[in-house]
Amino acid sequence: MLLIDAGGCVILANSAAENQFGYDAGEMIGLNATALIPDGYADRLATERRRHGAEIARRAVGDRGELIGRRRDGSDFPVQILIGSSKSGLVAVRTGGLELAFAAEHDVLTGLPNRLLLGNRITRAIILAKRRRHRVAVLFLDLDGFKRVNDSLGHAVGDRLLQSVATRLLGAVRASDTVSRQGGDEFVILLPDVSGAPDVAALAEKLLRAVADPHDIAPNDLHTGVSIGASLYPDDGLDAETLIKNADTAMYQAKEGGRHTFRFFAPAMRERAIERQTVEEDLRRAVARGEFTLRYQPQIDVRGGAITGAEALIRWKHPSRGLLTPDAFIPIAEESGLMVPIGAWVLREACAQAEAWRRAGLPAISMAVNVSAVEFGKADFLAGILGALDDTGLDPRALELELTESMLMQHAESAVTVLGTLRDIGVRVAIDDFGTGFSSLSYLTRFPVDALKIDQSFIRQLGGDRNNAIVVTTIIGMAHAMDLRVIAEGVETADQLRFLSRRRCEEAQGYLFSRPMPAADFVKLIAQGVSKGAGESWGGRDLPYDIGARES
Ligand code: C2E
Ligand code: MG
Ligand code: MG
Repeated sequence: MLLIDAGGCVILANSAAENQFGYDAGEMIGLNATALIPDGYADRLATERRRHGAEIARRAVGDRGELIGRRRDGSDFPVQILIGSSKSGLVAVRTGGLELAFAAEHDVLTGLPNRLLLGNRITRAIILAKRRRHRVAVLFLDLDGFKRVNDSLGHAVGDRLLQSVATRLLGAVRASDTVSRQGGDEFVILLPDVSGAPDVAALAEKLLRAVADPHDIAPNDLHTGVSIGASLYPDDGLDAETLIKNADTAMYQAKEGGRHTFRFFAPAMRERAIERQTVEEDLRRAVARGEFTLRYQPQIDVRGGAITGAEALIRWKHPSRGLLTPDAFIPIAEESGLMVPIGAWVLREACAQAEAWRRAGLPAISMAVNVSAVEFGKADFLAGILGALDDTGLDPRALELELTESMLMQHAESAVTVLGTLRDIGVRVAIDDFGTGFSSLSYLTRFPVDALKIDQSFIRQLGGDRNNAIVVTTIIGMAHAMDLRVIAEGVETADQLRFLSRRRCEEAQGYLFSRPMPAADFVKLIAQGVSKGAGESWGGRDLPYDIGARES
């Protein structure tokens, strides 16, 4: 994916686009679009733009077309363009299999991959490492005394120091390694293929030396140190998040150990293995005893403020640990095969609840249910959905299933058929956490889905990073071009809601309106409405919502 602004400059390019066009990370930013298309085409585009100006862009929103792209080495290949929004410019997408990340994947200051891209790369590295039985290392780096540099010499100098450190780090690693910036003065390095701890220790020594050399930032020579922590897959964690977290912990130990040093994560491995086993045993008991319950979070029509739906979110009433949220047990449930019975319970319970509300004469709303990848991959997935609808009597049109991009991509072939059947029976499908995974746009257009849920990480950062606002605007524009409804997740502030409203985002969900709540409380919410002025249009200044219902 490329984003080109109205002046014809590239303002965002994801790694797939860089590879495709043959540029290194960050090199495409600032290029004029004419460098990326053959001369004849470039001239034509330029003349068209002069002649019709913004008018073309306005009219063409949603249009798709074929164009020729030019790689850095001069060779040509077909690209597909889809005009997302006249404000954010063109979105160019190659047809056929190009992985498309909607996220801004790079840090603006250093041009390094950001957190998101890093997470994806670690996940891929783990998949390969599992297959080929090697190790993956994650190094967490934090500059020593960076705050002092910023405070005494100013942010401009601080920024240049970060850029200089980024260059040093890149110089010390192999091309297949990833150096990413986490934000602030934190960097994370991924080594996708290491044989063991000695490899990692050797590189850490090299990094310590590379960063310690004076940085020539006129008029000063700046000196800085760095504290490094490392974790290894599979020894210290099985997923990206755990590996980063454990490398971070090790980095703190390095800081405490006197700064400008390096530490491995010292795992209380046995302890953790035991804890995991306990959770799994507890979980088995929970399934048998029915210790789960659902919370419901309203989905709100952005224009009028009415409740259009509820998302069912599972909680575990743990006998000794209290009410647990899904992140504490769903990963273990998925690995241990317990997710299938749990998912079946959720679906049935949510459908029964929705049908009970309808029978009680409450306003019609839809019920959104999250589906886990392990459920979606089962041959009897559709049968389970049909069974739950049959048994509870819920109208299929009142059910919306939330799937993720990666689930669809993982089961690309069967997904088209499964989604087609769901559409035939009237069940709607939304893509959850949209923007966090890799998608191929050509695939996405093949899947009959109804809505996109923009991931809360994008909403949370609205108002901060400008690129983020562009990404949100673009996702909404593209969704509308594909006739999809857009639901924004994690809306917490009135400013975020205003931003979304101006861009014609249809629905919103988040703490601004209400936390997830038990069915009994949700009933009151539907009856009174979160909106005091439902149906009235609002100018974007005074919100008609009664905000901030708490989770109980
Ligand atoms: P999700 O489907 O993206 O659900 C949204 C999550 O964001 C929920 O977390 C919700 O409580 C939280 N949230 C909603 N509004 C806000 C907000 O304004 N700010 C913030 N910071 N958070 C907000 P929860 O309930 O902990 O669920 C986490 C994830 O667990 C869900 O993400 C979903 O992927 C999964 N999950 C939940 N229930 C089920 C289930 O029954 N089955 C399956 N397979 N997965 C489930
Ligand atoms: Mg969801
Ligand atoms: Mg989500």
